[in-house]
Amino acid sequence: MSQRKAFEVIDKETQTFVDLAQKMWDNPETAFNEVQASKWTAEVLKKYGFEVETGYVGLPTAIRATWGSGHPVVGFLGEFDALPGLSQKAQTTKEPVTVGGAGQGCGHNLLGASCLAAAVGLKAELEEKKMSGTVVFYACPAEEVLTGKAFMARGGAFKELDIALAWHGGTLNMINNGVMTGLNSAIFHFKGRTAHAGGDPYNGRSALDAAELMSVGANYLREHVTSDVRIHYVYKEAGTAPNIVPDRAAVWYYVRALSREAIDDTYDRLVKVAKGAAMMTETELEIEFLGGCYNTQRNDVLRDLMLDSIKAVDKPVYTDEELKFAEKLNEQSPTYEQAKASGMLKGGPIHNGIFVYEQESSGSSDVGDVAHIVPTGAVSTATCNIAAPGHSWQITACAGMSIGYKGMIYGAKAMAEAAMRIYEDPSIAAKAKEEFDKRMHGRTYKCPIPNEVPIPQPVK
Ligand SMILES: [Zn+2]
Repeated sequence: MSQRKAFEVIDKETQTFVDLAQKMWDNPETAFNEVQASKWTAEVLKKYGFEVETGYVGLPTAIRATWGSGHPVVGFLGEFDALPGLSQKAQTTKEPVTVGGAGQGCGHNLLGASCLAAAVGLKAELEEKKMSGTVVFYACPAEEVLTGKAFMARGGAFKELDIALAWHGGTLNMINNGVMTGLNSAIFHFKGRTAHAGGDPYNGRSALDAAELMSVGANYLREHVTSDVRIHYVYKEAGTAPNIVPDRAAVWYYVRALSREAIDDTYDRLVKVAKGAAMMTETELEIEFLGGCYNTQRNDVLRDLMLDSIKAVDKPVYTDEELKFAEKLNEQSPTYEQAKASGMLKGGPIHNGIFVYEQESSGSSDVGDVAHIVPTGAVSTATCNIAAPGHSWQITACAGMSIGYKGMIYGAKAMAEAAMRIYEDPSIAAKAKEEFDKRMHGRTYKCPIPNEVPIPQPVK
């Protein structure tokens, strides 16, 4: 096992990182509203001697913090936003802290603090060894709506890096070299004309009819897209009472696919469907484009680096109470029987191995934007019970107690080890860049969010 100055400092300062993560867990803030989280993160970064820029590239809660000079420049992608409706106490039975409130159901309180811990450890080791190299920590807002990093990239973020490293907590210790989908997100607003639905419906032009006809068209479109495409929607506005012809309706769509080209192609066709629905119903259409992100991109050089690095770090050791806590949560998982039958639980209620993921998946992450700007490596560590569903009360529970914190520190060390290897041997960064260039096939990153789309502001 590696014995690094970076690890020594991460261990010594653990309580500071845990306190930061705990504060974000106690005060969950949703996408673009991470005002307190951003303030507390900036305070900790300043305490450790980083140069801190808040409100980075015009995003009120984004931060860029740096230390050191020269190459290699390694950047960390911290996140901190919570999910609406996933409030949960740090206990094994389902009970919210606040009914209907937000909660850290994806463990992003651990994410920001883990990346920060890695940066602090690296600063200490580079300082001690008097080495060249720059550490960059980004606090990236709004991962949960998948547009935070694209807005940052639109403002010029990330291109200063030689390598970006991302960490995420989850059910497994895992090197993530799979490809996740990218997406476009837009709300289609229809405006019609109201009338008495019983008295003079012929004078009305129903915006709800338009929205429903758009759904019909979108559901026929499904057959004629490639199998990686996912289209999903929710109604945001659909009228007020049956006896009033609705003059306003709105539907929020996601279009996902494994390439930017497939997303753009499907989205353009969906816009045609919406226009057709408006024409049929004599309503007006207004499209509110909320943003988009790229699919993620593989890098085998960084996969190998991350795998070697995580293997060089001691795995967390869990107490009996922690194992019992995780087991109780596993028993309440909707996939418990499946997990048991598959042998997944044999290694214990918290994942104990190291898994390399190489497949394609239909979820998305705005890390994809960064991965199309610079070579990006991704690692996960177990921060919850192994059978926890994604975005669930179980993840919120574990993200506010020691199981989450142990995984967070394990992840911080894996990232610090990987980054130190890059600082010690810059040829790793050069090889990763060579592979990145090959995979880009001469394409360059083009932000999926047009300049005229405003940066969302915190709602207070
Ligand atoms: Zn997440």
